[in-house]
Amino acid sequence: MALKQITIAGGGLAGLSLGVALRQRNIPVQIMEAAAYPRHRVCGEFISGIQEHELKALGIDDLFIPAARHRETAWFDGACPMFRATLPETAYGLSRHHLDAALAERFTITGGELQTSTRFTGDAEVEGIVLASGRPQRVSEWLGMKAHFEDLALTADLEIHLGNHAYVGLTKVEHDRVNVSGLFHRTSPVSGGQQALAQAVQDSGLTELSDRLRNAHMDASSLKGVNRFHLGWQSHRDSAVRIGDAAAMIPPFTGNGMTMALQSALAAAEPLTRWSQGACSWHDTQFAIRQTQSQLFSSRLRWARALQELLLQPLGRRLCAYAINHRWVSFDTLYRTVR
Ligand SMILES: Cc1cc2nc3c(=O)[nH]c(=O)nc-3n(C[C@H](O)[C@H](O)[C@H](O)COP(=O)(O)OP(=O)(O)OC[C@H]3O[C@@H](n4cnc5c(N)ncnc54)[C@H](O)[C@@H]3O)c2cc1C
Repeated sequence: MALKQITIAGGGLAGLSLGVALRQRNIPVQIMEAAAYPRHRVCGEFISGIQEHELKALGIDDLFIPAARHRETAWFDGACPMFRATLPETAYGLSRHHLDAALAERFTITGGELQTSTRFTGDAEVEGIVLASGRPQRVSEWLGMKAHFEDLALTADLEIHLGNHAYVGLTKVEHDRVNVSGLFHRTSPVSGGQQALAQAVQDSGLTELSDRLRNAHMDASSLKGVNRFHLGWQSHRDSAVRIGDAAAMIPPFTGNGMTMALQSALAAAEPLTRWSQGACSWHDTQFAIRQTQSQLFSSRLRWARALQELLLQPLGRRLCAYAINHRWVSFDTLYRTVR
């Protein structure tokens, strides 16, 4: 029996991991990726909430061997410590520069057809097409930025700094490099150039952190910014199959967006395999994928949105620190609401 081909538009984390999972099941897969590898992406590169068995089921668990392992987190309100906590489970720090290239290599080695520097422009509602094209290109009131630093000492595996309508995360990725990434509300234009990230941090009232960044060595090629995205479920009128950020984007402070990309790929792998084998219709495939994503992600998206709103308000931050430090609510409980 001839297997039907799956075409994936977008070779980021979601598209590539789905491609590898489908190739493990011998499904013919083509991925079209607008860019080439390796490349830096705007991402905090802190991966939490993914389980070992999920990585194994995708066939990519060994790609996480070089990742930094994280257990401790420290949160700051401006220059003031809010709380320190131990994560309920180990999180990973792995750069997209490394991970996407490793996934692309795994995909081609397993017989997948990868077309880089190729933009998908076809009809996304045609049977067999999966959109993994990332955040929709809608201008946002948020600016996301990231860069890698060397010689930057951390006080915990994950530092989160909350400022005026902004937050910044610092965490180690492979080779002891530190990823600094932030989300900034765009109340004023951001200056360009190499100091753009440090300047945005300073403009958010995080002066001490900004000084730390200015005194460390930044890899200028890793500095990236993005202002086109929309947090939450992505609303679409069509019935195309979407995974990863193309389906829903969780606020970055959760460190769960990459996990959602991987989990949505895993949720799509089995229904797409059945469709390729002729065992179910495309309509049933779309329905199964949407339903699983809704079950997996709806609650964490709601909680993440509410917590982000709380953390961006000075009073909300004080309340949160008080509640955790006085054991009204445990960090573990809050952690699990967004995973
Ligand atoms: C500031 C910031 C910080 C973040 N920090 C974290 C973090 O610490 N931890 C975490 O887990 N998540 C974080 N995230 C979220 C995380 O980066 C995303 O959830 C994740 O990248 C989603 O993967 P994806 O494969 O869906 O999309 P992407 O990684 O964006 O991949 C989409 C791919 O599709 C390609 N593409 C787009 N259009 C087309 C087309 N028409 N044809 C072909 N190719 C196309 C693009 O080139 C890209 O390679 C952060 C996000 C932001 C903005």
